[in-house]
Amino acid sequence: MRRIIDKNEKGFTLAELLIVVAIIAVLVAVSIPIFTSQLEKARAATCMANRRALYGELSASYMTDEGNYKKPDLDKYTCPSKGNITYSEKDGIFTVECSVHTKKWNDNTVPDLYDLIFKDYVGSTVDSTAVKNNNTNADKLEAVKKALAEKGIDLDALGAASWRVTGDAGAQRFEWSTVDISKVKVGQTIPVIRYRFDGTYGKMYSVWLYTVGEGVGGGYNVIKTQGKEIPASASASAADKESIDNIIEIYNKYVSTQKIDNEPIPTIG
Ligand SMILES: [Zn+2]
Repeated sequence: MRRIIDKNEKGFTLAELLIVVAIIAVLVAVSIPIFTSQLEKARAATCMANRRALYGELSASYMTDEGNYKKPDLDKYTCPSKGNITYSEKDGIFTVECSVHTKKWNDNTVPDLYDLIFKDYVGSTVDSTAVKNNNTNADKLEAVKKALAEKGIDLDALGAASWRVTGDAGAQRFEWSTVDISKVKVGQTIPVIRYRFDGTYGKMYSVWLYTVGEGVGGGYNVIKTQGKEIPASASASAADKESIDNIIEIYNKYVSTQKIDNEPIPTIG
């Protein structure tokens, strides 16, 4: 004991100092990427908040001016990642996009959905329409929406008027349609883009015809379990099905020939 104290009073040895320096170097190296990724998440969130605010201003102006709207000051709505924020209007519906942050639903971000969403909701289905208290998953809706937004999945950009998250530990699915299912009858056939991710086949998009069913407890509609895949999707190659762009093209081509209750079905983008 006495010898140790004496030794310590002489200060650090060169070897000890080198070890301390090495440890600090490792800590710095590890923390920089974590810090950068947190920073980019914050930038994406700021960009989304600015795009929402711009959307709000445009929509409010459109409503008060009855079809005309004031050109907004785009300098007020900027993207911290130097993305270019643009807007367009069609029949009173505005689309606000960022050249960096919109349509981030791509091959790199999709598999991470498992960590963000499915591991907490394994075996359950969360519907975009689950608003009734007697639906056991209604409480999860906001959390799933938040998780999707955090992944940069812009439901508006995907044209997702209705969607659901479903699956189990083996395979997970995110399915959406440009049809607002709250406005159609139970039993109606609707086109759906299905994104499926599983450990065996990896990620895959496809276009299906599903049906609209009644939600648990009644009073609202949900997307029901799979019906049949449309021919153009069924005959697409595995490589084609890995690309969301290819599948959106197939979806748009299909829905442009279809009507529901004599109304055209909206396309994506
Ligand atoms: Zn942006």
